[in-house]
Amino acid sequence: MARPHVLLVSFPAQGHINPLLTFAKTLVRNGIEVTFSTSLYAQQRMAKAADGISNSITFEAFSDGYDDGCKSSDDHDQYMAEIRNRSSNTIREAILASAEQGRPVTCLLYSLLLPWVAAVAREMHIPSALLWIQPTTVLDIYYYYFNGYGEEIKNSSDDPSWAIQLPRLPLLAKRDLPSFLHPPSSDHKLFALSTCKEHLETLGVETKPKVLVNTFDALEPDALKAIEGYELIGIGPLIPSAFLDGKDPSDKVIGGDLFHKSEDYVQWLNSKPESSVVYVSFGSLLRLSKVQMEEIAKGLLQCKRPFLWVIRVKENPEEEKDDDKLSCLEELEKLGKIVPWCSQLEVLTHPSLGCFVTHCGWNSTLECIACGVPMVAFPQWADQGTNAKLIQGVWETGLRVNPREDGTVENEEIKRCIETIMDDGEKSRELRENARKWKNYAREAMQEDGSSAKNLMAFVEELGDYC
Ligand code: UDP
Repeated sequence: MARPHVLLVSFPAQGHINPLLTFAKTLVRNGIEVTFSTSLYAQQRMAKAADGISNSITFEAFSDGYDDGCKSSDDHDQYMAEIRNRSSNTIREAILASAEQGRPVTCLLYSLLLPWVAAVAREMHIPSALLWIQPTTVLDIYYYYFNGYGEEIKNSSDDPSWAIQLPRLPLLAKRDLPSFLHPPSSDHKLFALSTCKEHLETLGVETKPKVLVNTFDALEPDALKAIEGYELIGIGPLIPSAFLDGKDPSDKVIGGDLFHKSEDYVQWLNSKPESSVVYVSFGSLLRLSKVQMEEIAKGLLQCKRPFLWVIRVKENPEEEKDDDKLSCLEELEKLGKIVPWCSQLEVLTHPSLGCFVTHCGWNSTLECIACGVPMVAFPQWADQGTNAKLIQGVWETGLRVNPREDGTVENEEIKRCIETIMDDGEKSRELRENARKWKNYAREAMQEDGSSAKNLMAFVEELGDYC
């Protein structure tokens, strides 16, 4: 009998590639054959990082029509049309070629923003599943937006007394909802929302659709049960084994880095006292305004604590302007370290780490929970406001910054949040204790009889049934 063969298709962004590649490695460890597919541009960029796994996973790139990369000025609708057409064709061809080689694809797994992959799977009579890479709560909110609560959400207000109660979810203020739901929407937001709608419609075709979610039962117990017609299955945190369950101590890199990391920050971290360093990162996509960057810089200088700050360099060096340079760069470099990219998990598990100032991307949030580090939640868009609500209001492992009316967070506010976490006062101790508690729950979920490990084994068994 043929071995189960899963084709994983990832949107070409770091926040998608990381959890999918980690899941791919987990499947391989469980005897499943895996083919990983993302755009040609992303695959070329991650080629070096993926060196160590290229003998256990087959990589099958598709062209998204932008083989030299996308520019911020490119049209989003055009991009989505291209990736839909081109990836569908490549996936079809890859499935046919695999069958001819005697290793037929027995299940298609796809991440967010690629709902058409499910249609290809149906057309080729192959079972498929969505791997949701944001919290379950966000999936629930989108579901209820399109199922009965759309008008109420559209009429949301900044008035502090406005809040919405969705089934089984915490009370949510406007700022806690995914930003794509707030009118008026830019083109960018519209494409994200319409793709989400298509995901839900695609799932709606099935009876009791199954969605694998990068979360764990204890973290979102109610959210996982919030949609009656769905089977939502927590299989996370999707983090390399060495940083979580320790089953494979050599599994220390995800292998999908799209950026070159610095090499010298570990030595710098080693020289710092325990729990003293403030780590600052806004993920792989965001570019903050110059005004906001200057406020962060001032806030960090006022705290007088060592910090490690990830500031990505522009992909096109010609776009780098002298005006982008921070005014107090010299002072900053005396107190802390600025790097273009790092291994975030290596940083989060370093004993010198004191807190994480994060944009609350879901991977960063979950990684931080699994490493037991308290957070300054500094959300910007997409699911980040919801994640910040969960961090401060539900898990109580961090503090959310309060921006002024134009959205900028001032240096005093940044300092207030960092100091409350770092000053070893009552609130600081409470947040650290909560962070430790959630770290333990995350690890328990991945232990042999933990909820995510059990869910994963059930999925692996099911893959065997598909053969
Ligand atoms: N990351 C990293 N090094 C960095 C910054 C980020 O390895 O210097 C990783 C981080 O660990 C996470 C991913 O990039 O896995 C970012 O995903 P997230 O969902 O947090 O944010 P996004 O980039 O999608 O906004």
